[in-house]
Amino acid sequence: MALAKRKSTSGRRVKTSVVTGGAGFLGSHLVDLLLSRGHRVIAIDNLVTGSVNNIAHLAGNTSFRFIQQDVTEYLFLEGSVDYVWHFASPASPVDYLELPIQTLKVGSLGTHKALGLAKEKGARFLLTSTSEVYGDPLVHPQPETYWGNVNPIGPRGCYDEAKRFAEALTIAYRNQHRLETRIVRIFNTYGPRMRLRDGRVVPAFISQALEGLPITVFGDGSQTRSFCYCSDLIEGIYRLMMSEVADPVNIGNPTEMTMLEFAEAVIRATRSRSRIVFRPLPQDDPKQRRPDIARARKHLAWAPRVALREGLRDTIAYFRPRVRSR
Ligand code: UDP
Repeated sequence: MALAKRKSTSGRRVKTSVVTGGAGFLGSHLVDLLLSRGHRVIAIDNLVTGSVNNIAHLAGNTSFRFIQQDVTEYLFLEGSVDYVWHFASPASPVDYLELPIQTLKVGSLGTHKALGLAKEKGARFLLTSTSEVYGDPLVHPQPETYWGNVNPIGPRGCYDEAKRFAEALTIAYRNQHRLETRIVRIFNTYGPRMRLRDGRVVPAFISQALEGLPITVFGDGSQTRSFCYCSDLIEGIYRLMMSEVADPVNIGNPTEMTMLEFAEAVIRATRSRSRIVFRPLPQDDPKQRRPDIARARKHLAWAPRVALREGLRDTIAYFRPRVRSR
């Protein structure tokens, strides 16, 4: 599919963005936002956890191009690129338990290739890092200055350490090659286009509630998370890329809740008659997690706007027909 010509109707040069993981849950939402803001977008995805369904609505859009490729392999693109957004990675604990080597490779080799592309094109680079770099945190809430408490050989090590390596590599490219870089640490995010069976708590609880199955709370449900709606998150990431902030920035919703409270919220929102059952807590499951977003507030003038009730309503509306049609 050819991309549109280089000048917009206003005569300004159209920006070109490359989004790795562009067919994934968050990558595809970013693609939509970039197109709506006038970028030409090239999405690269090997479809291991992403899906063409997430970008099917863009078929025929001349500003959009999709390349099916593993980003751990050399990335060759003709033409100029202004921004590289490195979103590719399995991101659910169930996925990276099943795909530990791919997860390590995309976080390390994939980040290397994406940085190499940005260097070659003189583009600005943004790494999607994660709250998992804080591990099972001993500091609460987590500011960007906290170095974390990660088990490198535990079940989450493949993801956590790959992302920590990716941050180090990004900073190395910044220092050694003077590349313009940004690092976002993403906290739990939810919304339409999450996979029904990706194992994360939001699709798990919603699909169980909609199907009338027991809601599986792991452990005693006292562990906490805070959930950010996808549109809030993508807006924060966009602002970060366009800002001058080179240090890592947490983007997430600081409204913290226990998993038991979250199960009850999902039951209320779906008007489900499902009951709650308790299952063993997976190894190294962080006991608490909440972003300190002071840096994002100050430097990006960003804070989440979508309340859990609203976000759940839209996410449930997305899942409802998909649950039935299974
Ligand atoms: N969880 C749960 N039941 C499920 C799936 C997850 O209680 O069916 C819990 C999980 O143990 C964790 C929290 O929900 O404490 C968030 O899990 P998720 O897999 O979404 O991501 P994490 O934040 O752990 O990376």
